[in-house]
Amino acid sequence: MIYLDNAATTKPCREAVAGSAYAMTRVFGNPSSLHGLGIAAEQLLNYSRDKIAASLGVLSREIIFTSGATEANNLAIFGLSEAYGRRKKRVVTTSVEHPSVAEPFKKLAAAGFEVVTVSPRSDGVLDEDDLVEAVNADTCLVSAMYINNETGAILPIEGAFARIKKLYPECILHTDCVQAYMKLPFKAKSLSADAISVSAHKIHGPKGVGALWVKKGVRLSPQILGGGQQSGLRSGTEAVPMIYSFGKTVDAMNATLGPRYAHAEKINLYLREKLSQIPGLSINSPDDASPFILSVSVPGIKSETVLHFLEQKQIYVSSGSACSRGKKSAVLEAFGLPAEKIDSTVRISTSAETSEDDVDRLAEALRLACETLVKIKR
Ligand code: PMP
Repeated sequence: MIYLDNAATTKPCREAVAGSAYAMTRVFGNPSSLHGLGIAAEQLLNYSRDKIAASLGVLSREIIFTSGATEANNLAIFGLSEAYGRRKKRVVTTSVEHPSVAEPFKKLAAAGFEVVTVSPRSDGVLDEDDLVEAVNADTCLVSAMYINNETGAILPIEGAFARIKKLYPECILHTDCVQAYMKLPFKAKSLSADAISVSAHKIHGPKGVGALWVKKGVRLSPQILGGGQQSGLRSGTEAVPMIYSFGKTVDAMNATLGPRYAHAEKINLYLREKLSQIPGLSINSPDDASPFILSVSVPGIKSETVLHFLEQKQIYVSSGSACSRGKKSAVLEAFGLPAEKIDSTVRISTSAETSEDDVDRLAEALRLACETLVKIKR
């Protein structure tokens, strides 16, 4: 099997599996219980909180565990706009966000917020100036992703957020870092962010757990009410096995971040070189995109057809993004891709396990797809 769908999800690492099994078999107490078993469970939560906080360069008590990045994004957008949007009604986002950001903004618009959506220019690049200029003194919240999940494009949030903070220190800045976390070396401070969403299953951890970091002093209105766990910011008994597994994953991935990035760069160069030799195939990802994601189009053949052709050869990729599930991607449209390319987009996303041999086999299969499938169509 050649697994090239790591932007959709990753294979859990050894540490992740061992961590969840340990918590489930050995430390099954409720972390809110006052007896020893409860305290032991709470210690596992603290372990993970410390690991994630250290990886982002923030304080442990600023980390809120969630069921994943979808919930983290919802919590950030609704929780921050509720806390800060009483007088300031303008919120800013981009047209290339994941649905877990785009959909909450639609709801904010329906609730009376002025939602300003910044789009890439005609060259497909989202400009730093455009993001900064969308913000004014009435803006309470900006949410812009760091790395796009469909093309790997790196958004200019580092520069834009720093400039916005200088101009409007009270404006709250949130970023969805799902495709950047444990892939690119960054810290909360280097992004000038106030809130960051991350997910475990994109970094070889378990599915169903993520985290939202919110800077000390920033107000957040809780969206899940109940027993008051996590300082009242996210009620519900914490998913101890998943959270501990997440912490163990972060510990393992942090230790290999540099070499994994170097490997991804090498594989990405090789992929680009190999795939650009296939007549008709075009590369959609910008040259300076994240090396972990490569979006390509196979003109004349529908994405799903290519996907299943590759699947027969046990090569697993995504059509556009796994989340869009057959729907035409509004994100690729926003990046300026013509309709025929959007219909035939395939997303290849690699991991540390991807080898040059895997790339050779993918390239061979894609070449065959171009030759035979186009012929069938004719
Ligand atoms: N944001 C981005 C950029 C993503 O790629 C994903 C996963 N498709 C999410 C958010 C949602 O994460 P989760 O699956 O943890 O809810």
